[in-house]
Amino acid sequence: MKALRLTAWGEAPEPTEVEQPVPRGAEVLVRVEATGLCHSDLHVIDAAAGALPYRLPFTLGHEVAGRVTAWGPDADGVEAGQRVVLYGPWGCDSCDRCAAGRDNYCDRRDTLAWHGAGLGRDGGMAEYVLVPSARHLVPIGDLTADQAAPLSDAGLTSYHAVAGLRHALGEGTTTAVIGIGGLGHLAVQILRATTATRVLAVDTREDALTLADRSGADFGTLARADTARVLRGQTRGAGADAVLDFVGNGQTLELATGILRPGGELAVVGSGGGRLTVSKPGVLPPGFRLSLPFWGTRPELTEVVALARSGAIHVETERLPLSAAAEAIGRLRRGQVRGRAVLVP
Ligand code: NAD
Ligand code: ZN
Repeated sequence: MKALRLTAWGEAPEPTEVEQPVPRGAEVLVRVEATGLCHSDLHVIDAAAGALPYRLPFTLGHEVAGRVTAWGPDADGVEAGQRVVLYGPWGCDSCDRCAAGRDNYCDRRDTLAWHGAGLGRDGGMAEYVLVPSARHLVPIGDLTADQAAPLSDAGLTSYHAVAGLRHALGEGTTTAVIGIGGLGHLAVQILRATTATRVLAVDTREDALTLADRSGADFGTLARADTARVLRGQTRGAGADAVLDFVGNGQTLELATGILRPGGELAVVGSGGGRLTVSKPGVLPPGFRLSLPFWGTRPELTEVVALARSGAIHVETERLPLSAAAEAIGRLRRGQVRGRAVLVP
């Protein structure tokens, strides 16, 4: 079968012919129907040797939807043809976090040689993907594969980040969302669907602000030198109760902490390599709280799928064949993808 494999750090992944995997034990084989291309894939491709605990080579692709086709003798509760989305964080399967469906915070996360599908283990940018256990599969009912695949990271990570702030997002509050790409446009919709907060969107691209508007943001503005002043104006000078940063570089962290209200919540989701210096006394807003959410839990993925099936969230997608992965990667790098690019084998 064809697979897009990362063979060397810092080099473009290679389309490669590999053996179609055969499920053993509790493993399940899924015929891939769609795989989302995440900005994290770019961070993985660009990583310096030794920066990530993964062993090369492996097949990329951690946002995967498809159909169950075969399974090993110990697999439970699977049916031929079942349409599923993969829960991508695969933990050790034996710590109490994994037992609770919180593989994203597995206690052995840093000693395993992987963080999940397409992140150290073979992922879904291929015709088939081998899943270690049926517990990593969530049924999608009648959702299309294009809609379902991005839910497993863009949807789940946004949902998990919002869930961590929900206590602070009541009526009369304001939340700024920075970076309205694959994750950010779903975060806007999830905020609208699950909280009462007012949503302010920030991006460097006009078309991303158009998408923010369509996703239900109350206000959108370009990231510029005066953005903090513009956003403060939107909160009558008080500042935002929460900021979700889907970029995470030095510029956005400065903006985020600059518009946060005292006692506000900052969730940094983007892996843009920015740094925050903590000092007391200092310039950070008093009482602010910082979280660094990573992906999401298995029960949360079931909730995100239910939200999508109810019509409360909709993924903006651009569909390309897997053979055009290099083009999709180039477009994502240049900021030319609107919403999520989805690759179809
Ligand atoms: P994306 O490329 O689809 O979207 C990023 C958006 O940010 C784009 O619309 C871009 O125009 C905008 N942007 C870039 N620089 C900006 C700036 N200075 N100010 C405002 N907007 C700016 O990326 P994505 O797939 O949505 O991923 C977003 C980030 O989240 C990436 O860093 C990715 O690695 C990270 N991520 C983290 C997790 C996690 O678990 N924490 C999971 C998935 C992705
Ligand atoms: Zn574990």
